[in-house]
Amino acid sequence: MRSRPGRHFLQIPGPTNVPDRVLGAIGRPTIDHRGPEFAALGRACLDGMRRIFRTAGRVCIFPASGTGAWEAALVNTLSRGDRVLVYETGHFARLWAEVARRLGLEVETIEGDWRSGVDAGAVEEALARDAGAGAGAGAIRAVAVLHNETSTGAASDVPAVRRALDASGHPALLLVDTVSSLASLPYEHDGWGVDVTVAGSQKGLMLPPGLGFNAVSEKAWRASADAKLARSYWDWRAMEDPNASGYFPFTPATNLLFGLREAIAMLEEEGLERVFARHRRLAAATRRAVQAWGLDFNCRPPEHRSASLTAVRMPDGWSADALRALILERFDVSLGNGLGKLQDRVFRIGHLGDLNDVTVLGTLAAVEMGLSLAGAPFQRGGVDAAMDQLAADPATGPEP
Ligand SMILES: *Cc1c(COP(=O)(O)O)cnc(C)c1O
Repeated sequence: MRSRPGRHFLQIPGPTNVPDRVLGAIGRPTIDHRGPEFAALGRACLDGMRRIFRTAGRVCIFPASGTGAWEAALVNTLSRGDRVLVYETGHFARLWAEVARRLGLEVETIEGDWRSGVDAGAVEEALARDAGAGAGAGAIRAVAVLHNETSTGAASDVPAVRRALDASGHPALLLVDTVSSLASLPYEHDGWGVDVTVAGSQKGLMLPPGLGFNAVSEKAWRASADAKLARSYWDWRAMEDPNASGYFPFTPATNLLFGLREAIAMLEEEGLERVFARHRRLAAATRRAVQAWGLDFNCRPPEHRSASLTAVRMPDGWSADALRALILERFDVSLGNGLGKLQDRVFRIGHLGDLNDVTVLGTLAAVEMGLSLAGAPFQRGGVDAAMDQLAADPATGPEP
């Protein structure tokens, strides 16, 4: 493999570019995870993640990918045969449902069109049917939705799902995946009444892959006392005592925790509100480019379009994967591929994590040049439109 000058542009919707400050923190010598120095690190990470999730409750940190955190959310709250209502917004929702099935849960799916976010009305109908089915609360024990469906570029209105649960008076737990939205889109674990929030390190948190998170409501914690699915490594309750003093029941990913403490510091130095505004603004610029190119958004309703990534549909008969390969080869820019039934149909531009105006403009320039070299039917002028958008909206630019 020949060496390539300059920084590689990792513009997939996760893993994202890891800032130098975080890489530097991770590069420190590993310390004794049972020694005196570790407690402050463990506490800083647990407290910091509470602030990021916006919860006063418990947070669990696992050395794991997001998939592990999905499993942890399920095995700690449910028992074999329990029914989980999953809204299939796209590929990642389908994968979470598959995890649930393999664990012995019964999955009821609401089929989405893979081109929009959750329809809370459909959730409310399913819950009302369930509650009306017999005496008591019905069979559904948990509702699982994605805040941001990374395969389609659609974000969902989590408070609307909460209202659907409340309106039907249904006692099911609300489980929410925020792997590609936490620290990029506004999120409120407590304020939105979520029972378990699932997250991972490698997207908005700007870390390498390797940490999975659960934020846990009081109701979910109580459910974990009765949940019968087999669990050992994922057991929230095993975390409780050691976490209280900043330690873990097993060897934690010490160096990723150094990185996490640094990433949280960076997010808080910028200010979470400014982080969210920056993501909104960079997403708006990206959308202007896509519109100028005359290409279609995979996500149809404008109000569902995600601030952390944009999935763009290739014109019929054109391969998104061939375009991505060309852009990688010529410009050293990685774009996200189409997943599941969107394979080769869409490419995904990640605009989350450690990035600024010119990171996005560089990425868009690579896409525009790639479309042109591929001979795809499109109009030039996307980068110009994005520049106009960014120049007209200095709201979250550098401090004067
Ligand atoms: C990336 C992602 C995951 C999967 O996480 P892994 O770390 O690959 O296990 C889950 N959900 C969503 C929404 C994601 O974007």
